[in-house]
Amino acid sequence: MLEESEIRQRFLDFEARFGRGGVIDLYYAPGRVNLIGDHTDYNGGYVLPIAVEQGTYLMIRASELSPARLYSENVMLDARIFPADLTPAEDWADYVRGVYFYAREFCRDLPPFDALFFGDLPLEAGLSSSASIEVATALGLESLGCKLAREDVVKVALKSENDFVGMPCGVMDQFSVTYAKAGHALFLNSGSLEYRQVPYTLQECALVVGNTGVRRNLLETDYRRRRSECEEALDLLSKKLGPRKNLAEVTINEFERARYSLPPLLEKRAEHVIYENVRVEEAARCLEAGDSATLGHLMNRSHESLRDLFEVSCQELDALQEVSIDQQGVLGARMTGAGWGGCVIVLIKKDMVERYLRRVPGLYWQSTHYDAEFVVTSPGGGARKL
Ligand code: ADP
Ligand code: MG
Repeated sequence: MLEESEIRQRFLDFEARFGRGGVIDLYYAPGRVNLIGDHTDYNGGYVLPIAVEQGTYLMIRASELSPARLYSENVMLDARIFPADLTPAEDWADYVRGVYFYAREFCRDLPPFDALFFGDLPLEAGLSSSASIEVATALGLESLGCKLAREDVVKVALKSENDFVGMPCGVMDQFSVTYAKAGHALFLNSGSLEYRQVPYTLQECALVVGNTGVRRNLLETDYRRRRSECEEALDLLSKKLGPRKNLAEVTINEFERARYSLPPLLEKRAEHVIYENVRVEEAARCLEAGDSATLGHLMNRSHESLRDLFEVSCQELDALQEVSIDQQGVLGARMTGAGWGGCVIVLIKKDMVERYLRRVPGLYWQSTHYDAEFVVTSPGGGARKL
């Protein structure tokens, strides 16, 4: 989070840019990182994200003048939103436009506005700055006379990302950014959207998010292929075991009985999802019990499974994970997010973080010739008006 003095300065910046007068409100939405549970969400399974302590700030003021005027300090660009012509412009402001567009299903006659975005969340670093800017915007609509319920904030933000921007992600990002609670991880059933706040009791541990520097380049075709492989595996397992709604519903015992009915590739995909789902449940229990050693172990197993069974890792993710688990004080590390690039999350003793940050960038560069960037974090609070 930013210091008070930095935020005060932004009020002056806002007035310098957009003029004085009127009520200026301030909203905040964090980024997120998933501790464990990847590629479980579209299989109706569990995920365990936390909000990071870095986020997006939105200063907003209703206006009478169309178009709406926007500026983002993060990308140093302005943009316009024409309420009468809400089509994607293929720029950064589409995340905002999409929210404004879908919010009209809840509130007619949204007025134009002036908005300044800023903050300390890195963009395109796998910490979901996209969900963060969407959710901040959806909350900020309150200042335009449109107060959305929390579940509608999630809906509008997700629709903006899926249907306006065109990124086919699951619900985890928007949900966790909206519902996160400081000092807790969010244990979420992606199928039913039931959730539980799990206290983060590992006071001696920090979380380091290391960005491999490989642009995730979410090879949409690969992502879609994994989804359809999971559907095929579910069909075959349902024939053997009786109808199941999703892969996460299949227990380990059932899977072990039926796995030989699957072709080898689908067997690997299903094995990842079914075992990963159980690991997420165990990880939530470890968090509550303060068992960092077992949690670290589960994170390592999760990485191996994503690498060898689900095959969504890449050389750079593997290199950063391997260098990380070799370091003193590291309890576990895994790729986090969809894969094919992006970030590794590392569970590490707090007093070893400095040493880690001194050693790992060089070691990683030696093996990949990429520069990694690191953010140290712990479970922060969810989206809110400040
Ligand atoms: P991630 O969500 O992992 O950070 P994405 O590629 O999904 O990466 O979303 C990043 C994009 O979201 C940026 O390239 C930019 O277009 C937009 N964005 C997010 N936050 C901001 C912001 N504060 N200001 C302007 N654009 C932003
Ligand atoms: Mg994103």
